[in-house]
Amino acid sequence: MASITIADIEAADAKLTGRLRQTPVELSSTLSKSAGVPVTLKLEHHQITGSFKLRGATNAVLNLGEAQKAAGVVGVSTGNHGRGLAHAAREAGVRCIICMSELVPQNKVDGIKAQGAEVRTIGRSQDDAQQEVDRLVSEEAMTMLPPFDHPHIIAGQGTLGLEILDQVPSAETILVPLSGGGLISGLAAAAKARKPGIKIIGVSMERGAAMHECLKAGKPIHVEEMKTLADSLGGGIGLDNQYTFPMTRDLVDDTVTVSEAQIAGAIRHAYWEERQIIEGSGSVAIAAVLAGKAAVSGPAVCVVSGANIDLGLHYRIISGEDVDVTKPES
Ligand SMILES: *Cc1c(COP(=O)(O)O)cnc(C)c1O
Repeated sequence: MASITIADIEAADAKLTGRLRQTPVELSSTLSKSAGVPVTLKLEHHQITGSFKLRGATNAVLNLGEAQKAAGVVGVSTGNHGRGLAHAAREAGVRCIICMSELVPQNKVDGIKAQGAEVRTIGRSQDDAQQEVDRLVSEEAMTMLPPFDHPHIIAGQGTLGLEILDQVPSAETILVPLSGGGLISGLAAAAKARKPGIKIIGVSMERGAAMHECLKAGKPIHVEEMKTLADSLGGGIGLDNQYTFPMTRDLVDDTVTVSEAQIAGAIRHAYWEERQIIEGSGSVAIAAVLAGKAAVSGPAVCVVSGANIDLGLHYRIISGEDVDVTKPES
């Protein structure tokens, strides 16, 4: 089985040292009361670019060969992976093109451009953007770096697991936001190598929990993508998934899901109780604790994975408005 080991993650950790932030941890008294065990937040949304995706992207870029670095990297993500990849490439002096459909909102385009990447808008769908990526790979020898199913990406995300156990050595459960599984695969491999008995729980949104459904099916399957407040957790795991499906299946103890109302509640909780501005995807571990969805034993850590939320939307949520992003726009 193709798998990423603690040695790969330690090698990534050595490469990343001094290039990224060591994000803080904070004991949450309200969540601890709610769970009945000490609950610590790992505030990874304070990472440069606003999410942990910078870890994997930086490790992947630094592991390119000289010819690959000279030709540059390309990606299709308009979200946190795109930001991370753009930043990682700029820091390494590597050209980066992010391809996206013409329908992507301007604020997302600007977010990627602000990190120093070239943006190529093409066609009216993700498939059209993917065709341009394929052309850049075949005709211009650029390297496509995917958001999760890649050894160097997984190893980079795994450094978060090492950091958590350095900061909270007593941790017995870690709750981790879960989409394609790059984060949880690397984090679980690192944490279980250091502390074999530790429990790793993946948390996704109810609407389109791809990995959760694939684990139930016992193989990668198509799961319909739906609108959700946890927009960074959308998308499938790939029918040809090579690494993150087997690693999640073998290393993760449980996966649970949370509702849209629970995600909104966790964003509110983070703001009013913890003084943190976090995005929906970054809030799902907190949501699971508040809703009593996960069997949390011993000292627990909730990974807060991202900050990149539209601030207008955030304001409406924390003001108590019953925001429903799942309805078609009127
Ligand atoms: C990408 C992302 C995740 C999920 O990571 P995977 O490696 O795809 O499981 C969680 N939270 C945020 C904020 C993200 O951007």
